[in-house]
Amino acid sequence: MIDLVLVPGRDRSLLRRHPWVLSGSVARSVGNAEGGALVRVLSAEGEPLGFGHLSPHSVIRVRMVAFGKEAPADSWLEDRIQAAVRRRGEDPLLADLEGLRLVNAEGDGLPGLVVDRYGDCLVVKLSSAGMANLRQPIAEALRAVPGVSRVLERADAVAARQEGLAIREGVWFGEEPEALLTLHERGRRYEVDVRHGQKTGFYLDQREARDLVQRLADGRRVLDLFSYTGGFAVAAVRGGAHSVTLVDSSEPALALARRNLRAAPEVESRFVAANAFRFVRADDALYDLLVVDPPPLARRRRDLARATRAYKDVILHALHRAAPGAFLLVFSCSHHVGADLFRKVVFAASLDAGRPVQVLGTLGPPSDHPVSLDHPEGDYLCGLLLRA
Ligand code: SAH
Repeated sequence: MIDLVLVPGRDRSLLRRHPWVLSGSVARSVGNAEGGALVRVLSAEGEPLGFGHLSPHSVIRVRMVAFGKEAPADSWLEDRIQAAVRRRGEDPLLADLEGLRLVNAEGDGLPGLVVDRYGDCLVVKLSSAGMANLRQPIAEALRAVPGVSRVLERADAVAARQEGLAIREGVWFGEEPEALLTLHERGRRYEVDVRHGQKTGFYLDQREARDLVQRLADGRRVLDLFSYTGGFAVAAVRGGAHSVTLVDSSEPALALARRNLRAAPEVESRFVAANAFRFVRADDALYDLLVVDPPPLARRRRDLARATRAYKDVILHALHRAAPGAFLLVFSCSHHVGADLFRKVVFAASLDAGRPVQVLGTLGPPSDHPVSLDHPEGDYLCGLLLRA
């Protein structure tokens, strides 16, 4: 096995079990390792710190899979996949779900691996050279998950570029999934395009926010900004909404949203293919429940200033569209915009709008998207329930 030796002082984060070694922390490697190989990481003083997968082209040079002197057992991958699946099975908060995340990368001790479940179909995303090398054992471990009959790989284009990986997509085993899979979630019904949709087809991480929208929606005029395929709008209709307006820039997403809402033709539904930032400025309607769920606006730290202006702007204009006593659910899914900063952004919007706002609750990802305390970067989604 190849050894990587760190720059003096750069062992600190590994001693705190942070699972990433950044390229600038590596002083030298003893021997030549292939991308994706398991390497041993040593401090500058030669102390073995642990083992991880090498990504020669990435800023995240090594993703750790074990700490300390002992190499991980041969069965580590299978063991951790099984443990991740077992934890979901034993979690009462996840009972009876057809759609959930089975493996959440670093959050489950499996950096570079995401597995989402849609009934009998699993959708896998590999985002590290290490995991890309392990397709075969990952497939074997997933084949053993009860009730699974097919597994599909979806490419993560951003990660592939960063890691220098070839784009690969397709069925690992079982039948090719239908164009649209049906997903039932707590009384709601969605069609999901696991082959072309965003993420693995659906925003499974917003489940608890959908529950909340369903409970708040009765009789309300609902605005679903950045609606994607109508995850929130369907919940609102299910909860008795008076009307729903969905806004997204993606035509295919809205086409699927129409299908998802066709079960409730009696509810007035408006589908707007537009830039939501512009739409909300120009709109003159009032709403009683507004959901603002933009894409990650700060993917990198240097985007932060621009992103906070954009969040503030869209929330400010949403507040102008809020009827007295309206509920607003606002989200950031950028890790760099933490909960504290997001609250400040909402406060700035409230000041500028001249609308005092009450915070009624906070939201984050559900327990099938666990975040490891060792890996704060895994913490991305934060939401606030507000009353204007
Ligand atoms: N609320 C959705 C998820 C939203 S993800 C759900 O729960 O399913 C962000 C969405 O914003 C994506 O669907 C993307 O197509 C859309 N989007 C990105 N930029 C946009 C823009 N400027 N205006 C409108 N929609 C945009």
